[in-house]
Amino acid sequence: MRILILGPQGSGKGTQAKSIAALHDTPHVATGDILRTAVSEGTALGRRVHPILERGDLVPDELMVDLIRERLLDEDGFVLDGFPRTVPQAEALDAMLDEIGKPLDAVILLMVSDEVATARLRARALAEGRADDSPEAIRNRLRLYHELTEPVVERYRADGTLVAVDGDRAIPEVSATIEEALAQVGARS
Ligand code: ADP
Repeated sequence: MRILILGPQGSGKGTQAKSIAALHDTPHVATGDILRTAVSEGTALGRRVHPILERGDLVPDELMVDLIRERLLDEDGFVLDGFPRTVPQAEALDAMLDEIGKPLDAVILLMVSDEVATARLRARALAEGRADDSPEAIRNRLRLYHELTEPVVERYRADGTLVAVDGDRAIPEVSATIEEALAQVGARS
């Protein structure tokens, strides 16, 4: 099963991606987690992206595309979380999947307002102290989402693969809606 999950920061994307991955026994590929691991391990990639993550900016497209290419070519299925975040990344992903003849089964969009997203990210900042959950970085990440990632959403809406789900509900309710949608598109586990 090949699933993309899109939505603003604080929409519950990571939580839902993990649950889809577990239910369908499919790898969860989360670019934010991959990058944070590289930072904490102090690899060359980690040293390069550390200041970018702290500001809440985006890592350059070429670097992200190379990183994803390596991961996805190894996997038969995936729940992709955090990529693509820009139109060039989406074009690169489409080309990659075309090349290996493995189209996406579904693109899930988790919808929440900026107010809900900001409130959740502030709460997470208190609980977990993620470096990019400072008020400035939160504002920056949401701004970049609207500017650069929403055009990616529109791209998948236009080609009919997008399933939009209301993310402003309890976690199990959101999961149930996603599972119904996946069953409808006939995604194989
Ligand atoms: P969030 O969605 O809450 O911002 P993530 O864990 O998905 O959190 O990503 C954290 C950070 O990692 C982003 O703010 C960005 O700096 C970087 N990042 C993750 N995925 C990408 C991507 N596809 N393109 C560019 N930067 C990325």
